[in-house]
Amino acid sequence: MRNTLLLLFLMASGSFLFMGDFAKSPSLSSHSEVNQVSESLGEFSNSNYCIGVKIHVVKHSDGTEAFATPNNNQIIDNLNRTYNQHGIFFYLESTNTINNTALVDLTRNEFITLIRNDNDAGSLNYYVVNTLWDDKLGEAEGIPNNSLAIRRSEIYSIISVHEVGHCLNLHHTFHGTSAGERDSACIEAKDGSNCQICGDYVCDTPADAQVGFTNGYTPDLTNFMNTNRRDLDHFTPGQVDRMRMALNSNIRVTPYVNSGCSIVNTQISAPNEMCKGVNYTFNLQSRPAGSTLTWEYPSNVGLISQSGSQAVFRLNTYTGSTLKIIARLQVQGTTYYIQKNIKQNQVPSTSLITLESFQNAPLYTNQFNTVTARYDGDIDGGVLGYVWEWVVPSSSIQSQGSSYSYIKVKPNFTYNTSIYIKTRATNGCGTGQYKGKWFPVEYRSGRGRGGIDY
Ligand SMILES: [Zn+2]
Repeated sequence: MRNTLLLLFLMASGSFLFMGDFAKSPSLSSHSEVNQVSESLGEFSNSNYCIGVKIHVVKHSDGTEAFATPNNNQIIDNLNRTYNQHGIFFYLESTNTINNTALVDLTRNEFITLIRNDNDAGSLNYYVVNTLWDDKLGEAEGIPNNSLAIRRSEIYSIISVHEVGHCLNLHHTFHGTSAGERDSACIEAKDGSNCQICGDYVCDTPADAQVGFTNGYTPDLTNFMNTNRRDLDHFTPGQVDRMRMALNSNIRVTPYVNSGCSIVNTQISAPNEMCKGVNYTFNLQSRPAGSTLTWEYPSNVGLISQSGSQAVFRLNTYTGSTLKIIARLQVQGTTYYIQKNIKQNQVPSTSLITLESFQNAPLYTNQFNTVTARYDGDIDGGVLGYVWEWVVPSSSIQSQGSSYSYIKVKPNFTYNTSIYIKTRATNGCGTGQYKGKWFPVEYRSGRGRGGIDY
């Protein structure tokens, strides 16, 4: 509610928190280039990319500080916290000081002057100033590019994540609509039908006309590449793919991709799924020498034991969501976050099973009636899938493979009665208890060869 109110207020007041922080974008409307993005989906999913960052700090002309010295490791840490899970890693490659009082509080005209100071083509150049023009919080040189300027108050914040996103080829989610972004972009249609060639060129970010949830729009307001709020917290898979494609092959990005992170081959070896109550061993592979390892895990997971690069975890409470287990690795002052996403699972829960007949009607004699088991939750046991077992009284005839979630039953009676049918499910985590139910049986005299098939 608070955020909604904030948004409404901002919309009503006609100003947005960081409106205008966008990068002056070169034209990126070439259909061939844009189309490559969607065609590349998944292509680079197994690569890690390492980016060397050069942090430039502007000081007064006499060499005295214009503001408190930035904590460079914290700048890198803030980026790694967000980007490492997507296989994008940062390290401090070098630092630089620019002694020029005129650039401490940057004007629009001075931006290019600033980023030409000691710009290293082999680095992502990160310029820290006291303020930028028009209360701007950050500015990237272009999309994509190798330089950004940021207000010193934002170097550990989501603004830093946002500006680096521009450097790595991401546009605002509302690209093509803002008055301040009049490049060659076109507006993304509400239904996303032109998502490859308009808007931000990313198809899994919904169309955003900067009007919030009105007029049929359903924008992703907490996306890092939105700018209206402070609680930005994610990139979409499509955005990640777009960045990774730039890291892989864009000529304005690849020069600052190198192997300096020393963890690009480091990964967690572990199962893709954890069953509740079972111990699993996690191994951090290709761990750099001299690194310090700390495991991070959610509260519903227990750390059973830990030794060297190995740890044993157990899922204590099933919550259904994807688990993130992170190996936080400190390597010579830089912290990296190696993440493993794991699906939760558990033995099928009997209480989540509901048995019902077709349209909740009685089961009729002399015909086949469908009885279905519904599972109110995720029952899939991963690669093993799941199967059902049914038990029907011998007085009735059952058809349909017993592993299905439904059966067909023909009660064999000449009077009204009821029968008890039970079922249980097995998935990769094990076999649940039986769930049973009494079904009324209504006698109907012969209706031919099996009657109506429900
Ligand atoms: Zn921006």
